[in-house]
Amino acid sequence: MNDKLIRGGTVLTDPSALPEWGLIEDGAVLVRGDSVAEVGAYEELRERHPQAEEIGSERHVVMPGLINTHHHGFGITSFQLGTLDDYLEQWIPVIWGLKPLDRYLEVLYGDLQNLRSGVTTHLHASYFRDWAYNHAFKEQTYASLRAHADSGIRTSYAVQVLNRNTFVYQDDEEFLPSLPPELAETLREFVGPSGQEQVPGDYFEFLEAIHEEFAGSSRTRILLAPVNPVWCTDDLLRRARQAADSLETGLHIHLNETPFQRQYTNRLYGRTAVAHLEKLGVLGPDVSLGHAVWLDEDDMDICAASGTSVCHNPTSNLRLRNGILPVARMLEKGVNVSIGMDGNSFADDEDMLAEMRLAHKLSLLPRGLEPARAPSSFDVLRMATVNGARSAGQPAIGSLRPGSKADIVVLDGGRMRYPYTAPSIHVVDSILYRAKHGDVETVLVDGEVVLRDRRFVNVDEAEIAQRLRALAEAPPSPEVARWQKAMAELQRHTREFYTGWPAEEERPCYVVNCGHEAAARVPVAALEEEGA
Ligand SMILES: [Zn+2]
Repeated sequence: MNDKLIRGGTVLTDPSALPEWGLIEDGAVLVRGDSVAEVGAYEELRERHPQAEEIGSERHVVMPGLINTHHHGFGITSFQLGTLDDYLEQWIPVIWGLKPLDRYLEVLYGDLQNLRSGVTTHLHASYFRDWAYNHAFKEQTYASLRAHADSGIRTSYAVQVLNRNTFVYQDDEEFLPSLPPELAETLREFVGPSGQEQVPGDYFEFLEAIHEEFAGSSRTRILLAPVNPVWCTDDLLRRARQAADSLETGLHIHLNETPFQRQYTNRLYGRTAVAHLEKLGVLGPDVSLGHAVWLDEDDMDICAASGTSVCHNPTSNLRLRNGILPVARMLEKGVNVSIGMDGNSFADDEDMLAEMRLAHKLSLLPRGLEPARAPSSFDVLRMATVNGARSAGQPAIGSLRPGSKADIVVLDGGRMRYPYTAPSIHVVDSILYRAKHGDVETVLVDGEVVLRDRRFVNVDEAEIAQRLRALAEAPPSPEVARWQKAMAELQRHTREFYTGWPAEEERPCYVVNCGHEAAARVPVAALEEEGA
């Protein structure tokens, strides 16, 4: 029996176990097969399991693997390919125009960056940046899943589907005729003759097959991703809900990421997008909403009551100028909030620990002395572990209890505290204040060591990076060049289309500083209540 004993000066076994966090000083986790068999004092476990391979030491901190609940599988970021941040609606045609590399290599490299920062599971919402190649939808899906299997990461892979408003928040048959005919023709070529079928008509058939194929997989769970209500008809959303019910899986939906989206859906539905999804019967504990920056108080109540999770993507929301999720308010209302990076992390490096830090700092609003309402380091660690497990529909992860999956991060605690940190500082505060991806030393997924002493066990990271660089440096094919030209032209038209958005009433419902004149005009209900 190839048992492993994972030792730490501090072992954090259960971020949901208040108030002690299942914290064990000089403890260890006994891993048997893919699961945690025992947790306890190191000396005791060592004595009882003398054969177990030992990983870690007194200097290390052992904790559950982190869960990135919003990932798109791009190893080379949009910025690295030449794009600066912009409003999402302006940014989409720009990223569509980026040079496609190789799906397998990109996804694999993205996984490695995640693992390096202690992410053992991601929710990968499939979204193909090389959008023009959606015609190779199935091949791209399989390439992504193969990359996940090779990297060793655990994934909830949400297969995308959408069927309207391809270019802007308007029906393709209204928008395309408004464009110069040559551009419209190029766009139609890629969308398909109906202008609506950018995913194969047999999506549900494909989804069912792939779900069955991975039903026995220990690390891969297949979900559905109706991408966003702005791009999905009610009928499609309902069908996705039915498919999730019959397959007993979940849904991941981007929702109200931007004020433009809120404006569009509020007007279209005559109610908020969250209220509309609730009316359609789409929401529930197996649903997670990506971004959800633009929810109102009632929307948050609906999420809490229905058990719907919200995935907070703090950096991405800043980079695409979508504002700040009211985390404290959501947690207070009992919404399950998790954390994701959206492939748009703070230093463009997929450092989940940095993302958690930002999530924490952004939640500390100047509201007066209300310590109970300011999320703590512990709250944020819970968001990145147990809440993430719920968001990703993977109940056996997020903590290290006997029977949990052995997804474990071993941090170099000495490095994290270097050269000195007061002993009175709790280890969870140290993680939230100081830990970086460089402090992640060893990572196990499903009981298998995938990163050992900062080196990948099964994959040559440098070689993959080299291959991606060569692909990025190569000149685009004539077909790609033609497509890029069309995308550059499309950007001008989308900019024109969105002139005047968002409307006055859709502008921020929170204020950055009270001295700003907007504070007087558009107060937050929550802030008002408190007389802030
Ligand atoms: Zn996203």
